[in-house]
Amino acid sequence: MTAKPIIELRGVSKHFTKRLSLTARIGNLLGGRSMPQTVRAVDDVSLAITKGEVVGLVGESGCGKSTLGRIAVGLHAPTAGDRHWQGKSVLSLSPSERRAVQLAGQMIFQDAYASLNPRLRVADIIGEAPLAHGLITAAAEGEYVGAMMQRVGLDPSLAHRYPHQFSGGQRARIGIARALAVRPEFLVCDEAVAALDVSIQAQVINLFLALRGDLGLTYLFISHDLGVVRHIADRVVIMYLGRVVEAAPTEAFFASPNHPYAKALIAEVPRLDVRRKNFVAVTGEIPSPLAPPRGCHFHPRCPHVMPKCRIEAPSLRVIAPDRFSACHLNDQT
Ligand code: SF4
Repeated sequence: MTAKPIIELRGVSKHFTKRLSLTARIGNLLGGRSMPQTVRAVDDVSLAITKGEVVGLVGESGCGKSTLGRIAVGLHAPTAGDRHWQGKSVLSLSPSERRAVQLAGQMIFQDAYASLNPRLRVADIIGEAPLAHGLITAAAEGEYVGAMMQRVGLDPSLAHRYPHQFSGGQRARIGIARALAVRPEFLVCDEAVAALDVSIQAQVINLFLALRGDLGLTYLFISHDLGVVRHIADRVVIMYLGRVVEAAPTEAFFASPNHPYAKALIAEVPRLDVRRKNFVAVTGEIPSPLAPPRGCHFHPRCPHVMPKCRIEAPSLRVIAPDRFSACHLNDQT
């Protein structure tokens, strides 16, 4: 029997409409016809994550992976589609159930310093949310904060300090302790180790893996670094310009990536010990999501582009057990 997903996104899209400039609005008052532009940050994405699984979500900046992560924890409402928590649509839940789901999914950000209130002591940063949500009493706060700090490898005697008195790696741990303090089941880590030195990166990744073992956590691990994702993820999902283009178990993905964009990403990471015969690094910039190319979004950069690719968007389809890819090359096999 297949394990039930803890979190499932069904056909979610997120569009942001760019406000017209003052000049354009004045122009419209005088009879102009400027229309607001829409960014399709996420375009009809479905993703299910089972309990205890680590899914690595990879893509270049601007591909929509952070927006998808925010939808997964409820920080963004999708423009279309639905979010399901443990098999139930979040929209069908009562207000108290929704609050519980909101706490069960937490996000860890890349810039730990910017995400921590510089005027609060670490004790208050970690203790604020569990106290506000009634998970602990004021009398138990000190002990609880100490336990959270210990869990992430910080000395509880430093709880009275402010964020600027810690190193980058310690601040990342404070961000993790703050997320853990509300007893989540699902964490979205958005480039959570990208700003850290390589040795500190490894320590924080090992912390994430230890927490998964100890607390049974489930992760959506967002990164542009395939090397990191290969180390931590059970499954890899590749996004390009708002769409998922490939999804596969990690080992199978690195053994034989299918989508030309996935192959190009691997070609750009020389330290990855994978066979990259015939893999060509991707050239050019990712197109603007304000005006994505017609058909396959990747076609202007794809070395295998065919006439059909410029007209018809390939659908994400099964190419092997548990493996999905969206490329017209698969139509021929
Ligand atoms: Fe390249 Fe065409 Fe496949 Fe897109 S659908 S990745 S353009 S071969």
